[in-house]
Amino acid sequence: MKALITGITGQDGAYLAELLLSKGYEVHGLARRSSTADVNLTRLKWLGIEDDVRIVDGNLRDLSGLIRTMRDVKPDEVYNLAAQSFVRSSWQQPILTGEVTAMGVTHVLEALRIERPDARFYQASSSEMYGLIQEVEQSEATPFYPRSPYAVAKLYGHWITVNYRESFGMHASSGILFNHESPLRGIEFVTRKVTDGVARIKLGMADELRLGNIDAKRDWGHSKDYVRAMWLMLQQETPDDYVIATGRTTTVRDMCRIAFEHASLVMDDHLVIDPDLFRPAEVDVLLGDPAKAREKLGWEATISLDTMIREMVDADLERLKPTR
Ligand code: NDP
Ligand code: GDP
Repeated sequence: MKALITGITGQDGAYLAELLLSKGYEVHGLARRSSTADVNLTRLKWLGIEDDVRIVDGNLRDLSGLIRTMRDVKPDEVYNLAAQSFVRSSWQQPILTGEVTAMGVTHVLEALRIERPDARFYQASSSEMYGLIQEVEQSEATPFYPRSPYAVAKLYGHWITVNYRESFGMHASSGILFNHESPLRGIEFVTRKVTDGVARIKLGMADELRLGNIDAKRDWGHSKDYVRAMWLMLQQETPDDYVIATGRTTTVRDMCRIAFEHASLVMDDHLVIDPDLFRPAEVDVLLGDPAKAREKLGWEATISLDTMIREMVDADLERLKPTR
């Protein structure tokens, strides 16, 4: 089996590549050319798989390149993980976010429709699409109400995936994934900002950690669990949409406390609330209902928030500790 992962240099791309390699797949990854290509492959290097995947030069904004990639690689499964994925940046770069995170999905689907219409397709949709939540627990049936340019773009990506499935009979599935983290999470996201900040304070490299809205609540899981759900979706006879979540929600404050306590530090001695870090529109609370994934995919989250945050603090301590 041959898989193509867009966004292979990201957090999920790296873990998904690792999973597919362990299942015997030939793994190709689309990565955008950069003058710092060595840095871009950091996550794959971290997992020790950088020599096992085949990197294809490409960009989600470039349709002709994607068509060529589908023709050359001839993938059986395509996982579209590439996106401008940071909510806060999407207010700063709304047009780019729309071009990559929304229209980029159509580019990948078009390239597939032209070159590999029978390949199976996974779209990385997001719980951010629920935004101003319309139900306490969000399921596949909950109406969407996006609250950022990122979420609006993801909503387009979700519906165009549904539409290509219904219009052209493509095996296209959309995973509505709630927040998921790991030691490979981008440093701008709140969990990793916290675990990196705590590690710096512990090592005497910093004294404070500045955060915005710590009353926000998220349903946080581990990326390793979530990439398994992506693969399971594409193994089903029929394509469909699935919520992937833990079914538990926690405030940023309580998540932060886990990190400080793991490092034997007192959170209130170091945490500073910075009004500049509040967002123009907030998603106050997210809580997913993963019942359908449990029943149809036999999937459930296996790694708790506590375990994950401790793993992330330990990884950041290791990364930052002086080498002598
Ligand atoms: P990351 O931000 O870690 O990875 C994003 C990837 O997209 C990177 O490989 C990046 O490449 C690539 N990319 C960005 N722009 C382009 C472009 N124009 N052309 C090609 N590649 C591009 O995200 P995650 O791994 O955390 O998430 C994977 C997907 O899942 C994303 O679509 C995200 O929006 C979505 N998602 C994530 C959730 C989460 O909690 N992690 C929750 C729900 C959905 P580069 O390395 O060059 O920047
Ligand atoms: P998101 O859910 O995709 O936006 O993931 P993030 O990890 O970026 O943010 C999760 C929540 O943490 C949001 O409600 C943010 O407003 C909140 N938050 C509070 N302080 C910060 C901060 O300093 N950085 C980030 N990224 N988020 C913060």
